Amino acid sequence: MDKELDLRGVGMTSQRTRDRLVARLRERGITSERLLDIIGEVPRHVFVDEALSHRAYEDTSLPIGYNQTISRPYTVARMTEILLAAGPLSSVLEIGTGSGYQTAVLSRLVDRVYTVERIQGLADRARTHLRRLGVRNVQYKHDDGNLGWSERGPFDGIIVTASPREVPTELVQQLVDGGRLVLPVGTDQSQQLTLVCRSGDEMVTEVIEDANFVPLLGGRA
Ligand code: SAH
Repeated sequence: MDKELDLRGVGMTSQRTRDRLVARLRERGITSERLLDIIGEVPRHVFVDEALSHRAYEDTSLPIGYNQTISRPYTVARMTEILLAAGPLSSVLEIGTGSGYQTAVLSRLVDRVYTVERIQGLADRARTHLRRLGVRNVQYKHDDGNLGWSERGPFDGIIVTASPREVPTELVQQLVDGGRLVLPVGTDQSQQLTLVCRSGDEMVTEVIEDANFVPLLGGRA
């Protein structure tokens, strides 16, 4: 398909379909108009397999291969809203690039995004899709995100899109004073979306709501 036409979308990927998703997110409690505008603009169908593109604007997670999923739009919106709730951030570290969709949304809201993915095939594909959309303020790394990315830190914000059993201390250490870490914490059976704010050497932790992410694994693949 013609590139322009494909990005704009037709039928189940058209602007009307995207607007319905935005309306649904608003009903579900997402209030940031700027974020809702961006979700209405970023072509989520580009980040899923063509065979699933007709479902790209449903509020649901979808398979992206390698046993992983693209997060549900509500989850992307909620985590982004919490990350930015105290004001704009300049540099954000994302652990779990996956499809690159959350990366694309973030890239529109912050100056610089650093994203780490442990599966090479996903990291490569996400980079290709983001380039195609003209996104230039993202740096990519194929590595174990448990280690963060100390050479590029400290970060104003960190977002983790897979669930560790406990808050990884290495990540907290890569936050600026006053920095915010948004992540799910827990097991497959029970997970909570959590906000950790760093204040000097203290960590202030707030549980937001139940969550359902793939586990944060170790090492590279
Ligand atoms: N935000 C992504 C979510 C993908 S699912 C999206 O919406 O597409 C979570 C991702 O985290 C998967 O791609 C998985 O491979 C990755 N992941 C799991 N453990 C990781 C680790 N230790 N370091 C980096 N990435 C990890």
